[in-house]
Amino acid sequence: MSTMTVSYEDATARYEPVIGLETHVELGTRTKMFCGCPTEFGAEPNTHVCPVCLGLPGSLPVANRAAIEATIRIGLALNCTIASWCRFARKNYFYPDMPKNFQISQYDEPLCVDGWLDVLIDGQTVRVGIERVHLEEDTGKTLHLGGATGRIHGATESLVDYNRAGIPLVEIVTKPVPGTGARAPQVARAYVTELREVVRSLGVSDVRMEQGSMRCDVNTSLNRPGEPWGTRTETKNVNSLRSVERAVRSEILRQAALLDEGGRIVQETRHFHEDTGDTRPGRSKETATDYRYFPEPDLVPLAPDPAWVATLRAALPESPRARRDRLQAAWGLSDHDMQSVLNAGALALIETTVAAGTTPEAARKWWLGELSRVANETAADLGTLATPSQVAELQKLIDDGKLTDKLARTVLEGVVSGEGSPAEVMAARGLEVVSDTGALGAAVDEAIAANPDVAAKVRDGKVAAAGVIVGAVMKATRGQADAKTVRELVLARLTG
Ligand SMILES: [Zn+2]
Repeated sequence: MSTMTVSYEDATARYEPVIGLETHVELGTRTKMFCGCPTEFGAEPNTHVCPVCLGLPGSLPVANRAAIEATIRIGLALNCTIASWCRFARKNYFYPDMPKNFQISQYDEPLCVDGWLDVLIDGQTVRVGIERVHLEEDTGKTLHLGGATGRIHGATESLVDYNRAGIPLVEIVTKPVPGTGARAPQVARAYVTELREVVRSLGVSDVRMEQGSMRCDVNTSLNRPGEPWGTRTETKNVNSLRSVERAVRSEILRQAALLDEGGRIVQETRHFHEDTGDTRPGRSKETATDYRYFPEPDLVPLAPDPAWVATLRAALPESPRARRDRLQAAWGLSDHDMQSVLNAGALALIETTVAAGTTPEAARKWWLGELSRVANETAADLGTLATPSQVAELQKLIDDGKLTDKLARTVLEGVVSGEGSPAEVMAARGLEVVSDTGALGAAVDEAIAANPDVAAKVRDGKVAAAGVIVGAVMKATRGQADAKTVRELVLARLTG
């Protein structure tokens, strides 16, 4: 264990990091990869199982066409070449959460190869090469009970749930990414962020890292300038975007300290620890030969019809990057303002609000202002606080003179706390702007009577003094009067 510490600046000045990412995406197909079992999350343990996904003798797998289609679409969106012929392979290893004692995966004949994904770092494009996109099946889930950490160490019993076993899983492997220097952690994070956007835009997975439907392994190595690439470590199951960045940074620091001491980096699997922000060694890394891969004898080869692939290619949605560029231009936003929209996770919300008839400025004001503030304070998802149509309705009420800005904020509070649509909140709380001159007349007369000195000044031509009386009316009507109408009424009585 190294005791030396290095600063990040020193480490990246003396060593060049090379990163690589392997991302697993659980597909949102209705049924599993090789059987008809449902895939819904959160069912009673071991209720979504059958002889095929339990690996019982004599059962035979049949490949899920929807999963193959989703994988090809991911490959196409990542600019890959789609294989005209490929096969599934058996990856043999024993693990209690894998009932067949092998995983059906793809080995030397993946479905999609040789693509790329561009990511933007500080206004500069970094192209990340995609080595392969292949299709495999997920394992079950092991639950270790009795220990403090949920890990096997210290556990008194272990339970296994096979509901997840056999759910289609797409693995997306990058080529090694050299040359990013001190920005390597940022590049890793930006890549996973963009990949998540791409997969989400295709509608093939809900890509929720916190629920495990998107999981990331991060490879990191260091070399001195001019020397060959170093030995890489693989940090497993990094479960948030922030952790992707921290895991790379932490490995750079650890490896630099070790290399400074003349130590040797061991090729191994490491685990990222969310609490400490560092990585700890796991098992030593298996090599491909340990898995005794061979072509899966129970499945026919996969030969996607080129016409089908062409149809899928033609039907791809606009890429997330093209969409962002288009909306930024349409809304007239600076790079900085656009970044704020993206950071708030408000792009689609604003887009839908604008589509409902609101101006981009107003839509942005509500989502990035009041609603983002509540989201931050309550750690809620922005999209759960209000719907775009509610925000559009609220803004229309202001534009129609039925709400002041101040009243609208109160109405929005009601919407956020689940009291219904803006119109419903207004009705229930009695919040409409009072612009009915009959109703306001009495309040105006009272305010003039209560401020005889001010009234006299206005009568003498000091029109600016009328503000005091307008203010008194606004106060008496709890801010629900339309200030413009009140002012007109006051002046009509005193100067007309
Ligand atoms: Zn099954």
